[in-house]
Amino acid sequence: MNWLELSESLNTQLAKQDLPPIHILSTHAISGGDSHTAYQLHTTAQNYFLKLAPLHQLPILEAEQHNLNALLQSNTLSCPTPYATGTYQDHAWLLMEFILLTPSGNETQRGKDLALMHHQINRKPQPFGWFEDNFIGLTAQQNTWSSDWVHFYGQHRLLPQLELSQLKGAPSTLYQSGRKLINALPFWFQDYQPEASLLHGDLWAGNSAFNSEGEPIFFDPACYYGDRETDLAMTELFHGFSPDFYQGYHEIFPIDSGYQQRKPLYQLYHQLNHFNLFGGTYLQQAEQSIQQLLQQTKHSFF
Ligand code: ADP
Repeated sequence: MNWLELSESLNTQLAKQDLPPIHILSTHAISGGDSHTAYQLHTTAQNYFLKLAPLHQLPILEAEQHNLNALLQSNTLSCPTPYATGTYQDHAWLLMEFILLTPSGNETQRGKDLALMHHQINRKPQPFGWFEDNFIGLTAQQNTWSSDWVHFYGQHRLLPQLELSQLKGAPSTLYQSGRKLINALPFWFQDYQPEASLLHGDLWAGNSAFNSEGEPIFFDPACYYGDRETDLAMTELFHGFSPDFYQGYHEIFPIDSGYQQRKPLYQLYHQLNHFNLFGGTYLQQAEQSIQQLLQQTKHSFF
């Protein structure tokens, strides 16, 4: 990597936003990302976090910048400030604030912060969706505005993942049973009408940590307005959040008693996405979830 040339590209974009140029002193590769390579940039002024991706992934980094800005503007939780995106040769880049992250900190506050963000509710006539399509990992995520959550979750979340699974080699039975499940979705919403909360959208433990003061930091979001239970379900899918986190959440925004029934429905989206991205045993997990969910509806007319 020619860092001098790359910093010229960074500075051209920073100047467009009236931000001061940076002068890189040294760089340090950071591991842990799923999709991108990342670096800590030590500069004469401050430290920056730089994400690099293949050129065609520029829209993913641009969406991440928009999502981080949305979290910041909600004034409810902390995340890195994004400064600029751009391209350099065959790379796309995203430059943001560097935060020294640690795995432990104030778990109760992390739950409270998420609950505060979920209190940001979109009350427009078509509240579910987002102003642009974005990405969950590397998978495109449709965010077409909708007035109906059940329609949105079926048509813009489960269905595209089921369709993609067919291109990725999943058996057609997965698609067929998944379609059945989409038709049955109203079963889980007979006594529950979710509001359109601002969501992180990709909230597994790898996308949240704490700063050196132990304050919660959230990053790598895939925002949209939707049922807040989707974020909670994802925190439980791969674990990593302690009982204090849920206690803190509950203090600010109690959870509906039907959440336990809907949880596998919301985890299914991420299981399908993980199969589509990584293959492997996620397929069996998704198949099992669909069968168990359909089993719940057996005695209903759906
Ligand atoms: P990817 O999009 O490739 O999954 P992430 O956004 O999850 O990448 O970042 C990869 C790793 O870099 C994270 O696990 C985290 O430890 C660290 N990280 C993310 N954002 C920052 C930041 N702004 N400052 C410092 N470290 C960060």
